[in-house]
Order: sequence, then structure tokens, then C-alpha cells
Amino acid sequence: MENKLQELKIRLQEVNDLNMVGALLGWDQSTYMPPGGAPARGRQAATIGRLAHEKFTDPAIGKLLDALRPYQDSLPFDNDDASLIRVTQRNYDRATKVPADLIAELSAHQAAAYQAWTQARPNNDFAAVQPILEKTIEYSRQVANCFPGYDHIADPLINFADEGMKAKSIRAVFADLRQELVPLVQAITSQELADDSCVHQTFDSDAQLAFGKTIIGHYGYDFERGRQDMTHHPFMTKFSLGDVRITTRVKEDDLTEALFSTLHEAGHAMYEQGINMAYEGSPLAGGTSSGVHESQSRLWENLVGRSRGFWTHYYPQLQAAFPQQLGDVSLDTFYRAINKVSRSLIRTDADEVTYNLHVMIRFDLELQLLEGTLAVKDLPEAWHGRYQSDLSIQAPDNKDGVLQDVHWFAGIVGGAFQGYTLGNIMSSLFFDQAVQAHPSIPTDIEKGEFGVLHGWLKENVYQHGSKFTANELIERVTGGPLTIEPYIRYLRTKFGALYKL
Ligand code: ZN
Repeated sequence: MENKLQELKIRLQEVNDLNMVGALLGWDQSTYMPPGGAPARGRQAATIGRLAHEKFTDPAIGKLLDALRPYQDSLPFDNDDASLIRVTQRNYDRATKVPADLIAELSAHQAAAYQAWTQARPNNDFAAVQPILEKTIEYSRQVANCFPGYDHIADPLINFADEGMKAKSIRAVFADLRQELVPLVQAITSQELADDSCVHQTFDSDAQLAFGKTIIGHYGYDFERGRQDMTHHPFMTKFSLGDVRITTRVKEDDLTEALFSTLHEAGHAMYEQGINMAYEGSPLAGGTSSGVHESQSRLWENLVGRSRGFWTHYYPQLQAAFPQQLGDVSLDTFYRAINKVSRSLIRTDADEVTYNLHVMIRFDLELQLLEGTLAVKDLPEAWHGRYQSDLSIQAPDNKDGVLQDVHWFAGIVGGAFQGYTLGNIMSSLFFDQAVQAHPSIPTDIEKGEFGVLHGWLKENVYQHGSKFTANELIERVTGGPLTIEPYIRYLRTKFGALYKL
């Protein structure tokens, strides 16, 4: 048994090495690579990806997993070896159950879909992508059908990102959330818009970056095991547990861009940095789901970084960094500006309150597309209808409607959106538990001290890596299932005070 487990670990380490090299190629491509490197880099990334896939789907790994099953069964569920075998088996099934020719067809289709979308969006031309999207739905169903035994056809696709979550239960949670949010958004947006002109002056780029770095250093992001570089679309990436990097972008006329993307990506990165070092090189050495990952970025970005207590401490420092721009702006004015709520058409520009409505619209529509209860040709109209009923606005075109996100044109349809809102819900769930365990956390934040919160998150969330699914983790931490109550309470308290509701 010992030898078999050792052999499995060596093989998994090699797969991981290849994947991490692929991540390094991707990081370089998005940060420092000159344009001339693009054609070869695409090929290199594909080669590394293919090698990693071949190594991981090697039948020898399947045989090792089979041989190790009795050993796994003899161990407690949360034992490290048992968890490694369980999670590897899950990933192995995923990687081997979709036939190679379907994967090849799909990736060719995806490249074409993405290409078509980059032209269709600026031209506001939904008709150009309609047949492509119809094909994507068909492929998505085929992929789902490689994993029979599901309740809803979207379940296998949701599982890729949020293992263990089901369309039915997410739908129910989202329906409850929508019922709370729609009237809340109406109550807030019937008032005068918050004035955010104070964050739209001219702010020196270097000073902005320095300020953000100082804060995430205080949060506990470890610069000895990470660094920050510039990019077009901020992201976090990892080459090992000892090298977890973040990227950002700066807008001189928008103080919130670099700052909050830095806090957000640092939240993702601290999760990865906090994983048990003993899992290095194995499938356990990564955040467990898109929802839990997003809960950590949102927690540090919003629950901490957009809170009044936080700025009680940091606003004088921000004023000192930008005395000309902010010297005469009060904390109240600044706090309102960074928490401005408005009905907007674009998901990525949305505030904390309206954001989830954008996500839930997409989630519901993709379930209907997969079920076949909504035809692709009727999608633009369904989109506009939902924006009207949920946000009381309508895009004048499809460019800022159904064509705005790349997700449906760069992969399969299904599973890509729910994680954002699950993350928001879980951010409050975890934060609440941390505060229950350590009631000093809110006053710590007012002093710029984050060690207790960070320590609780490491202990209860980060260290486990992928050992537990999101639902298992929530059950362990809260003793119950996913619930929207803490999140709703958070939004009502914060925005109720801001807008005197
Ligand atoms: Zn994120």
C-alpha cells in the first residue's frame, strides 16, 4: 500500500509540475511577454497542457486508485491520504469520462466561438453568434451526458467549478436571495445617487499601488511567497504554495480600480498561501471551489475593505497619500463613494448589492438553455426581460446585453456564473463564524489589525485546500447547510445605515 501511495504521489507531482509550468507561461503572457511571443506561446501552452492531460489520464493512475480503495476505506474521511485518494479519483473521472474526440472537437469549436464573439460584440451582431451558441449548448449537453445519473443536466457542469452543488438547490437559494434583493435595490435606487466624484480625480499610479501593497501586507499576504505585477484583467495565479502571485491594473482617474482589485486578488492569494504545505504538488493543494475561492476574495475586498471600521483606520493614511485630492473630503463622503449603489448594465461594474442580480440572471438563463426551455434565438429578449424585472433597466442593444460576457463564448454553457454569488453568500457565512469565535474582530479591523481574522480563516478554511467540498466545509464550520441569512443581514445592516432604510 505504502509503495502504491508513493507511486501515485510521484505521478501526481509530475502532473502538477507540468500544470504549474503552464500557469507560469500564462502569467508571463499576461504580464511581460512582448506581442511577438504570442503565436509560439499559444502552441507551448497547448503542448504543456496536452502532456499534463496525458500523464494524468494514464490508465496506471486509475489502477493505482483502484488498488488504494481498501486503504482509503480503512481511514477516516478527513484523513490526508484518504482525502488525496478521494479527490484524485474525482478529478480522474472528470478527466477520463469525456471522450478524447469530443474534447478535441470542443476545443476547436471554442476557439472559433471566441473569435466570432470578439467581432460580434463590437458590431452588436447577435445573429452572427447565434448558430455558434446553439452548437455550444449542444456540446455542453454532450459533456454533461458523459456523467449520467444527474438530477439536472447542468449538475455535472456546475460540479466542475462547485463540486457537490446542484442546480435545484442553487436555484432555490438564488430565488430567496432575489426576493430580498430586488426590493432592496428598489429602495436604495429610488434615492439620490451617491456622489463618487472624490474617487474620480487624478491619482498618481505609483502612490496608488504603494497604498494597496501596504494594506495587503497588513492583511497577511506574504510577499516572500508572492508578488504583484501589472496586467489588463487582474487575476491571481500560483506556481507552487511558495509562489502565489497577483496582478492588478491602475486607472489614474479611478482610485477604486487598483485598490479594490488588489484587495480582491490578495484574498484569493491568501487562501492559496494558507493551504497546508504538506499538500504541495498534489490535487489537494488548491482552493476547493469557485464559490469558496470567491468568498475569500469578497471577504477581504468587501466585508473588510469596504467597511466603515476599516476606513476609520485607513482613511487618514489615504488622505496623507493624496492630500490635494482627499484632504477636504470627509470620511462619510468617501465611504459613500466607495459603496455607491446604482442600476447598471454591466456585471463587472456592478456594486455589492446589484451584482448578484446580474449573476442570477445569467445562471437562470443558462439552465433554461440547457433544459431546452429557452431557445438561443429567444435569448436576447429573455435577457432584456429579466433585466427589466430584476433591475428595472434595459440595454439598448445586445452588445451590453447578452454579448457582454465572454463566458458563453469561451467554453461550455453552464457552471461558470453561480460561483460569484455563492461566494458572496459564503463570505458572510464565514465572516460571521469568525466573529462569533472572536468578537474582537470588528474592533481589530478598526485598528488595522487582521491577525485574528486571518488566523481563523487559515485554521477553518485555507489549510484544508481541496480536502472538503464547499458543502462539507460549510457544514464543518457552521454545523448546517448553506444559508443566505448572514449575507442578507450584512447587506441590510450596511446599506440600511448608508441609505437610512
Ligand atoms: Zn475573484
